[in-house]
Amino acid sequence: MKSVDTKVREIKLFIDGEYVTSSSNSLFEVKNPATQEVIAKVHEATKEDVDRACKAARRAFEEGPWRTMTVKERCEKIRRMAEIIMERREELARLEATDVGKPYSVAFEKEIPRSAHNLKFFADFVEQLGGEVYPMEEEYLNYTRYEPVGVAALITPWNLPFMLTTWKLGPCLAAGNTAVIKPAEATPLTVSLLGEIAKEAGIPDGVVNVVHGFGPNSTGEFLTAHPEVDLISFTGETTTGKAIMKTGADTLKRVSFELGGKAANIIFEDADLNKAIPVSIQAAFLNSGQVCLAGSRILVQRSIFDEFVTRFKKAAEELVVGDPQDPRTNMGPLVSEEHYKKVTSYLEIAKQENATLITGGKRPANLPDYLKNGYYLEPTVYVHENPEARICQEEIFGPVVTLIPFDTEEEAVQIANNTQYGLNGVIWTENLQRAHRISHQVRAGTIWVNCWFVRDLRAPFGGFKKSGIGREGGRHSLEFFTEAKNICIAL
Ligand code: NAD
Repeated sequence: MKSVDTKVREIKLFIDGEYVTSSSNSLFEVKNPATQEVIAKVHEATKEDVDRACKAARRAFEEGPWRTMTVKERCEKIRRMAEIIMERREELARLEATDVGKPYSVAFEKEIPRSAHNLKFFADFVEQLGGEVYPMEEEYLNYTRYEPVGVAALITPWNLPFMLTTWKLGPCLAAGNTAVIKPAEATPLTVSLLGEIAKEAGIPDGVVNVVHGFGPNSTGEFLTAHPEVDLISFTGETTTGKAIMKTGADTLKRVSFELGGKAANIIFEDADLNKAIPVSIQAAFLNSGQVCLAGSRILVQRSIFDEFVTRFKKAAEELVVGDPQDPRTNMGPLVSEEHYKKVTSYLEIAKQENATLITGGKRPANLPDYLKNGYYLEPTVYVHENPEARICQEEIFGPVVTLIPFDTEEEAVQIANNTQYGLNGVIWTENLQRAHRISHQVRAGTIWVNCWFVRDLRAPFGGFKKSGIGREGGRHSLEFFTEAKNICIAL
């Protein structure tokens, strides 16, 4: 199925309830990663445009009625947004596949429904929320209210653009805040529609604004420096988190950071390999490995190492790499030329580090002609004995994984924790005590035992160490997006 999307869209900013052009009329191009064809010309928000968006969000926050309407009314509008997303599911999934290069089937089956659910979940959650009450004998009564903070900057990466933005927008809006969203410059298509979807759902003008552009000295930096922005929810690279923290420091902004990862996926000798191998393949190559939670360091107990390598290699080679719009495709291209160069630079590093290449390491040979310019790389598997090697330490964020042998539990934990990151870990064992023991010892925000990427939206999600600050999910998201106010009454 050849399905090249040749349409070039004009993507505008969405400020105060309407689409507007960049005040400098500066536009940047977005390419289809499968073909390198231009698919969009995007208006870059200048400092003045960001200022307009932040002031619109401030007005919508202060003057209402968003913040002051009943929780029920607000949450009904957010649920309506979720419904509209499901009504536009196919269109959004096509756009996401075209923009990111991910398989349409994954966007349609998983990411767009999850995006709708993100909004609905937080609307339902806020409606059910209670508060704390502390009576002081018969003399005083303390009770707590959770009030919105103000204007939130929501800054998101290119790997799961729509899903990650709605994951922030849900709690932000449900708590009564207003938002200025900045999607990643490489993949703005779906997120650019969120303002219009909010408006159609009856959400007042100025509550949801979307600005486009780059990071440093551009839209991202203007937004994080803006005095009207009270809080920044950011998902992206650890280095970008550091830059945003510095920029936001002058105006003392509250930050929530979901950053990089380099998860250990630990396979013990008693693991059920019939389950561990297919899930580890997913954990390695879903979204072409461009997932913060990717199990990119696979630690395998030496007694089963050879068997694991043979079976994992076979499963990796069976993945269908091709056109994201084709339902048979398991893996599309990498997102951009810049990222392709970064990921493929690790092939050279692996060579210098004497890693053993098991499979992959080059462009797929049999791509059809119309994909010949796409940023494709085969699922790539290395073996390395040295967990300190750069390919075992740095976040490659592509379809490149390293298998590392270990002998004992202690060694597995030591290797797993020998990283600056701590987003998640994965453990495969049939031994219940070991599962608990290792889960407690691995220093990461989420541990999956005999599974991967299973999410209950009530559960905390976030990183230890350099993988983040704060937690998202359920009441954890709401803690970030609200001010707790204690009221003490003399009785
Ligand atoms: P990135 O940090 O380069 O960019 C993310 C966003 O920040 C983009 O919108 C970008 O324009 C903006 N930005 C960049 N510099 C900025 C600056 N100085 N000021 C303000 N904004 C700025 O990240 P990316 O390359 O788009 O995404 C990949 C990274 O995201 C990986 O490190 C991955 O692990 C991480 N990630 C983490 C999670 C998580 O939940 N922990 C989820 C997905 C992705």
